[in-house]
Amino acid sequence: MKLLEEKILKEGKVIDNKVIKVDNFVNHLIDTKIINAFAEEVKKYYSNQRVDKILTVEASGIAIACAVAEAFDGLPFVFARKNKSAIIDDNVYKVEVKSFTQNRVAKPFLKKGENILIVDDFLAEGNAAIGLIEMCEQAGANVVGVAVVIEKEFQGGKKRISEKGVKVFAGASIKEFKDNKPVF
Ligand code: 5GP
Repeated sequence: MKLLEEKILKEGKVIDNKVIKVDNFVNHLIDTKIINAFAEEVKKYYSNQRVDKILTVEASGIAIACAVAEAFDGLPFVFARKNKSAIIDDNVYKVEVKSFTQNRVAKPFLKKGENILIVDDFLAEGNAAIGLIEMCEQAGANVVGVAVVIEKEFQGGKKRISEKGVKVFAGASIKEFKDNKPVF
């Protein structure tokens, strides 16, 4: 997406040629025009597939999943919670992802046979997305795709997910960082 690439070039801040901060339009302050434009592209990309529900992980995925769910004519979306809390009991699908975070979704909210589209802000090594794919596998749900706002191709996440037969869509694909500037 040209609009997104331009915004990343103008406002993204690259740290040590590895991580890019986009707090002022994706991760903290949210540019709804950009996120809605991304959501429309996601809808187009998966237009020939049945999608029943959107799945994401808190916190940064939530606003993005909400926009995508709306673009899919008001589908429900569910987010994996990172912490055990009073409002979530033990009846959950649970996966452990790198950095020892546990992601949990209440079992009634992910059903056998449902077609699930996973949405997130970033795809780097793919651990977060693969955790969500495993959660769908536990539930017997089918993963239609993984759609992310920004993908960092050099970290291999897309390759790992594509090898599982899951279609990946990225609003912007960063091939590498050169002198702390993204190269698309
Ligand atoms: P993965 O599990 O694919 O390695 O990483 C996914 C998660 O790490 C994303 O949901 C995001 O929260 C975080 N992340 C990875 N790389 C970046 C980055 O360059 N910038 C930001 N803002 N977050 C990142």
